[in-house]
Amino acid sequence: MNTLLIGCSDGRIAGRLEALLRDLGHPEANRMLVPGGLLPLTRPGSERRVALGCVREIVEVHDVRTVYLVAHQECAAYRKALGGLGFDQQELLERDLRRVKTLLENEFPGVDVLCYMIPWRENGEAADFGPAVTVD
Ligand SMILES: [Zn+2]
Repeated sequence: MNTLLIGCSDGRIAGRLEALLRDLGHPEANRMLVPGGLLPLTRPGSERRVALGCVREIVEVHDVRTVYLVAHQECAAYRKALGGLGFDQQELLERDLRRVKTLLENEFPGVDVLCYMIPWRENGEAADFGPAVTVD
């Protein structure tokens, strides 16, 4: 399939990622699952170069035309990278989604990037990740 999902390797969101791809009609999309998902693509220097090299490999080999960029709340990789709590995760993740979308669309002119967020929902004992929502 000429689609690619970039998301976090956190197993707790695996079901939500699969559900998103099913809903999009691309259950066989390529996957690039690394800690923090888009996080390495926001980092300076070699970290970003390596991540971008992986994206390029998949895009070229599989003739990818659409990238699904998925962030999620309560991300341990983000928390570690940013030195703990005390930041507005929602705002920061949305900012990073838009930044990385621009980066990828500049690097790969034939590729469309669609952004999604998997929210964490506190419902007392039923706290869990909700379905992915579009981020414009
Ligand atoms: Zn994560």
